[in-house]
Amino acid sequence: MLLTLSTTHHPATDLSHLLHKHPDKYQTIELSNGKAHIFYPHATDTHCTVALLLDIDPIGLVRNSGRTGDGAFALRQYVNDRPYVASSFMSVALSKAFSTAMNGTCNKRPELVDQIMPFEITISVLPAPKGGELLIRKLFDPLGYQVNLERHMLDHQFTEWGMSKYFTLKLSGNFKLKDVLSHIYVLIPALDTEKHYWVGAQEVEKLLDKGEGWLKDHPEKEQITRRYLKGIGGLTRNALGRLLEDEEWNEEEAVDEEPDQAKETLHYKRLKCVMEELKNSGAKSVIDMGCGEGKLIKMLLKEKQFDKIVGVDVSFRELEKASQRLHLQEMAPRQRERLEIFQGALTYRDQRLYGFDAAAIVEVIEHLDPNRLHAFERVVFEFAQPNTIVLTTPNSEYNALFEKMEANQMRHADHRFEWTRNEFESWGRQVAQKNGYQVVFKPIGEESENVGAPSQMAIFTRQSA
Ligand code: SAH
Repeated sequence: MLLTLSTTHHPATDLSHLLHKHPDKYQTIELSNGKAHIFYPHATDTHCTVALLLDIDPIGLVRNSGRTGDGAFALRQYVNDRPYVASSFMSVALSKAFSTAMNGTCNKRPELVDQIMPFEITISVLPAPKGGELLIRKLFDPLGYQVNLERHMLDHQFTEWGMSKYFTLKLSGNFKLKDVLSHIYVLIPALDTEKHYWVGAQEVEKLLDKGEGWLKDHPEKEQITRRYLKGIGGLTRNALGRLLEDEEWNEEEAVDEEPDQAKETLHYKRLKCVMEELKNSGAKSVIDMGCGEGKLIKMLLKEKQFDKIVGVDVSFRELEKASQRLHLQEMAPRQRERLEIFQGALTYRDQRLYGFDAAAIVEVIEHLDPNRLHAFERVVFEFAQPNTIVLTTPNSEYNALFEKMEANQMRHADHRFEWTRNEFESWGRQVAQKNGYQVVFKPIGEESENVGAPSQMAIFTRQSA
C-alpha cells in the first residue's frame, strides 16, 4: 500500500521542512503490525514527492489479534487484503510518520504551516464498499479536491470476474499540508469497513481532533462519523453531539420553559453567567443541585478548572436524560472520573451533598413548595455549606413583558412561586445572615426599565471561607 504526496510549490522541497523528513534520507518506522517506509522518489525545487509505503505483516496481524481461524474461511486471516489496501493502518502510519506536520508545527519555518500549496495525492489502493465511487467522491469533493478514480479489475487474466472494490485514488487541489493529512487520516478509515483495533472512546477524541475545522461543516459529517466509528451508535452520537454542540442550543431552547421569544437564548445566557461566577470563585469541585438534564454539567466538563463535578436531582427521568445528553456510557475514562450523578432531594439532609467548593442551584427553588423552602435552606446553607453558592430564579416583575402570559400566571406549570427582585433579595439576605454568608445579586439577561432583567442571580460566599 502506497501513498504519495507531491507538490509543485516553489521551492518544492519546502515540503521536506514541513514534514520534518530529509529528502536524502530513507526512514523506516515500526508499527504494531509491520513497518512504514518514508522516502522521496523525487525532490527538486520544482517538484517534490514524498512516499509512505506500508509493509503490513499479515501473519503478525493474526498473532496479535489473538483470534483463531473461523470455520467459514480459516485462511482468511492469511489471505486477506490488509497488506495491500489503505486502511486504518494508514492513518496510524501517517500520524506516526508525520505527527509534527499534522499538528501544524514547523519550528524552523513556522510560516510554512499556513501556506497553501498545490498538492497531488495518490493512494493505491483504496477499498471502498458498495457504491464506492460515489461515496469516495461525496467524501472528498466537498473539501475542494479534484477527484480522479481508477477502479481495478479483480484479475486482468480473468476479465469475466469483473471489477473489484479496489480503487487508485488521485486527489489534487490547493491546501495547507496539515489539512490534507487530517482529511486523509479521517476519510481513509471511514471508507474502509474493517478496523484493526478496538474502537473505543479514544477514537471519538481522535476523530474530533483531526476533524477540527472541517468535519463540522462537511455535508457528509454524519456518514463520516458513523463509518469512522464503525457504526457504534453510542460513540457516533457522542461525536456528533459534540460536533454540533453550538447548533444544539438553539434546537433545545425551542422547547425550553419561557413562554416567549426571549427563550431562544435566556437559559443559555443564564448558564453562562453561572459558569462565570463558578470560575471566578476559584472552585475546583462543584455540585449542581437540581441539575435537571445536565446542561450546566456539560459546560462544566469543558473547563479544566473543575476536577470534580457532581449532579444531583430528585427526578430519575431528568437524570436519565442527563445521562444521555452527557453520553455517560461512552465517556472517556478520564472524563468519567471527574463526574458523578445521583438521585437525591435538596430538602433532606444528605452527606453526599457535603464537601464541595461551590454549588450551582439554577432555576430550582421556585419548584419547591414554600413550606419546604426552610428545609432546603438548612440542607444547603447549614449542612452542606459550600464556600460559594450561585443560585438563580426568575424575576416575576419581568413577566409583564411576556405578551402571551396572563396576569399572575407563572412561567412554568411546576413553579410554586416566582419572586420580585425585592422578594428574592430579602430572602437571600436573611438566609445569608443566618448562615454566615455574604451575598451579592446580579441580573441575568437584558434589563428593562422598571421591571429589571428576566432572571436574577444571587452569589453567596461563606464568610469563614
Ligand atoms: N438546573 C437545571 C434544571 C432546572 S429545572 C437547569 O437549569 O437546566 C428544576 C429541576 O429541579 C428539575 O430537574 C427538578 O427535578 C429539580 N428539583 C425540584 N425539586 C427538587 C428537590 N427537592 N431536590 C432536588 N431536585 C429538585
